[in-house]
Amino acid sequence: MIIDLHSHTNCSDGELSPSDLLKLASEHGVNVLALTDHDTTLGLDEARQQATELGIRFINGVEISALWGTVDIHIVALQIDPTNETLQAGLKATRLAREVRAKSMGERLAAQGIKGVYEGAKAIAGDEIIARPHFAKHLVATGVVKDIPTAFKRYLVRGKAGYVPTPWPSYTEAVSWIRQAGGIAVVAHPARYRLTMSKLRSLLQDFKEAGGQAMEVATANHTAEEMELMSRACKELNLLASAGSDFHGPTMSRATLGKVPALPPGLTPVWQDWGLEAV
Ligand code: AMP
Ligand code: MN
Ligand code: MN
Ligand code: MN
Repeated sequence: MIIDLHSHTNCSDGELSPSDLLKLASEHGVNVLALTDHDTTLGLDEARQQATELGIRFINGVEISALWGTVDIHIVALQIDPTNETLQAGLKATRLAREVRAKSMGERLAAQGIKGVYEGAKAIAGDEIIARPHFAKHLVATGVVKDIPTAFKRYLVRGKAGYVPTPWPSYTEAVSWIRQAGGIAVVAHPARYRLTMSKLRSLLQDFKEAGGQAMEVATANHTAEEMELMSRACKELNLLASAGSDFHGPTMSRATLGKVPALPPGLTPVWQDWGLEAV
């Protein structure tokens, strides 16, 4: 059974429409898919409809940008009720923070002589959310840099001209919205935050105390060695283990939809009581 609990569409910074994402999932033999766009649930209805047609078990999700102290983290929410008003109000505030940051990124790049970047990124992003990959794509399209990784490295990461810290909600708020919407809060790609293992344990401990229930162990974002470390941390903290590709599109990431390493033995999968035996 192929279970992929982390994916994106063009409602956030992915390439495919929700329907096309599900069609690809079906081609890849995915049985269970969660759509987890950044800070929006806009794509869920279309994706769910297509999943039903294709016989894929669909999980409502969202990936919330949040702060643990000064560290930007991502919290994947699974099995949420997308109509929950607290969750939607929180996501709306988070999207507004994105918009404010995006304008400020444009101003900072203009001050460096690179003009019109906000407008260009916005045109690529559409109306729902604007994210750094939209800036990266614009910088590539206008010939400022040769590819997306270079755009990040030269302009979009901490310390570079286009980087602006974002006042994301705190992780405690994000977890609380998720829990109020009946969802499961999952620390996304925990090995990606450049934390020492002891810092990471303290993040996971705080997250658990705030009501968080799970962490991603198996993801295309982790090396085999990182997965082993995350597996150990997951057991120590007694969290549920999640698995997802973090697929953004055929040309955007090395991740392949539905391609997720098997969870190491001895972990409790986040889907243990979802009744997936029948899938
Ligand atoms: P944002 O949420 O707007 O801060 O943008 C973060 C998104 O940018 C992540 O979800 C990834 O999709 C993408 N991303 C982050 N770092 C890189 C990188 N170094 N190269 C390419 N894409 C990246
Ligand atoms: Mn992304
Ligand atoms: Mn992420
Ligand atoms: Mn993601």
